[in-house]
Amino acid sequence: RDVPELDAALVTCRACPRLVAWREEVARVKRRAFRDWEYWARPVPGFGPLDAPLAIVGLAPAAHGGNRTGRIFTGDPSGDALYSALYDVGLASQPVATHRGDGLELYGVRITVPVHCAPPDNKPTTGERDTCRPWLARELELLRPTLRAVVVLGGFAWQALLPVLAQAGWERPRPRPSFGHGAEASIADPATGHALHLVGGYHPSQRNMSTRTLTPAMLRDVLRRGADLAGL
Ligand code: SF4
Repeated sequence: RDVPELDAALVTCRACPRLVAWREEVARVKRRAFRDWEYWARPVPGFGPLDAPLAIVGLAPAAHGGNRTGRIFTGDPSGDALYSALYDVGLASQPVATHRGDGLELYGVRITVPVHCAPPDNKPTTGERDTCRPWLARELELLRPTLRAVVVLGGFAWQALLPVLAQAGWERPRPRPSFGHGAEASIADPATGHALHLVGGYHPSQRNMSTRTLTPAMLRDVLRRGADLAGL
């Protein structure tokens, strides 16, 4: 399967009852500012070119962001921070992302998530993470020929990604690398002969940005580091 086929299958997934109920409930009630929107209310696929050497792995769509617009990180404060930083480091065609027809292009980077449906309180369960794991595994497998680096935004994504890589045949690093902002790990891929470089970074959540746990400069730095390791 290629990525468009994978995405077409993904958007029909209803495997997590709690998340299906939540994504549809949010779309029914809506937020006042978006009452004229027809919410997407389905799984939100990854976004970016299919031959990307760099991937960014986040957490899950936001209820009124990706779950509304149908594009990951699009239409919410986390996405505002991420796309602005991607633009600043030369990986995006524009600094803002508002809807799927806004003309935004990504250069050499594909953004995806370990959980494709919006969770209540932005907190998926580990069970939901595990249920969604095959989608991430298939997407990474399709990107594998070109993929050289992954910027992993947040501890949840870090914990989700390592088992996927190990099960897909990337070497299992020992000791298991710990997540942190700026943490790095290099994982050999016997299938391609290339190393896959992981770069950890704090998630650009509204809370992390407003408390300045993560600043725009820190976010740019991890993206730039990932891009460098990917050869971009
Ligand atoms: Fe399907 Fe993933 Fe959404 Fe669960 S989170 S319903 S596995 S797409």
